[in-house]
Amino acid sequence: MTALKAKILQLIRQTGPLSLAQYMQMALLDSREGYYITRDPLGRDFVTAPEVSQIFGELIGLFFVQVWEDRGCPERFHLVELGPGRGTLMADMLRASRVRSGFVAAAGISLVEASPALRDVQAATLGDVRVTWRDDFDDVPDDAPLFLIANEFFDALPVRQFIRSTRGWHERMVGAEDETLVFAATPDPVPSEFIPAALRDAPVGAMFETSLPAQGVVRRIARRIAERDGVALIIDYGHAQSALGDTFQAVKSHRYANPLAEPGEADLTVHVDFGALAEAARGEGARIYGPVTQAEFLVALGIRARGTRLKNERPEHAGDIDAAIDRLTKPVQMGTMFKVLALSAPDTPTLPGFPC
Ligand code: SAH
Repeated sequence: MTALKAKILQLIRQTGPLSLAQYMQMALLDSREGYYITRDPLGRDFVTAPEVSQIFGELIGLFFVQVWEDRGCPERFHLVELGPGRGTLMADMLRASRVRSGFVAAAGISLVEASPALRDVQAATLGDVRVTWRDDFDDVPDDAPLFLIANEFFDALPVRQFIRSTRGWHERMVGAEDETLVFAATPDPVPSEFIPAALRDAPVGAMFETSLPAQGVVRRIARRIAERDGVALIIDYGHAQSALGDTFQAVKSHRYANPLAEPGEADLTVHVDFGALAEAARGEGARIYGPVTQAEFLVALGIRARGTRLKNERPEHAGDIDAAIDRLTKPVQMGTMFKVLALSAPDTPTLPGFPC
């Protein structure tokens, strides 16, 4: 048994079952044995879009250059990435953004990263680029416009799950039977305030997930943007509207795993509820774009033209470049499951990559 599983079992024995959110938080970010804290899982357990192709980061870099120019090239802004993984996306963005002198010099770069192991990888990837690591978005100063990117960050934030019975909604908890972690619903119904009114009357057995931390971060980003100007781009797998369903999953070595079997050894994620994030942002006065599918977004930003150019430069890699573009845009791959949501200040120029 892993040390982290022993710690979780002991906590359950002492204080009772954990909410799914508490369990996710410990499994992913326990300060000693959390999954992200101890390792670089990218490539080994799962692959993300920036790791599929440099084009992904390049297009996002050009997106932000366009956004910067449309706002009159502010002399200073904060360029922030949440959960930067291996630092690949930021490196590709910065390289592409050099097409416009002044952009990189105006950017104060902050990386919000909880994992010491991944901070080391990011430092190595970014070489002598000057960046500041932050524990939390709130640590980014609020003295300039905010340009923020988060790719596959929100799916790692803890959720609570609720399950419908004939008597109401119960919270789905993680309990223990001997040395095995098991799901167990609270015996009595809980207040149904977290369930959207339209979904509250669901059939028995229905599940609903909500991530208070995700909504909280988006609310703070939106408030900052509404006050100080800026743009945030949130990319992840998920659904455009709040919906019923259980999307909690574990992935290890590119395969689905039992999420309770080995806390700290597998990635735990959920599908992002973009409807809830958009609503949270709107409530703070931000303008919402999308969500559109990743395919729509990347095609609108010119992924095909960029692919053709790369293939002309490196004909020997033409097959790989086509395969990577397919992987990012085809519906059976990442094209439609992944969505892109953007926030901006109201009454600012329309963002590239989204329909007018
Ligand atoms: N954006 C990267 C990596 C995605 S993996 C890519 O697309 O390749 C998720 C990233 O979020 C990792 O860097 C992980 O360490 C970080 N992370 C997860 N939860 C976090 C939290 N609560 N605070 C800060 N970083 C977190």
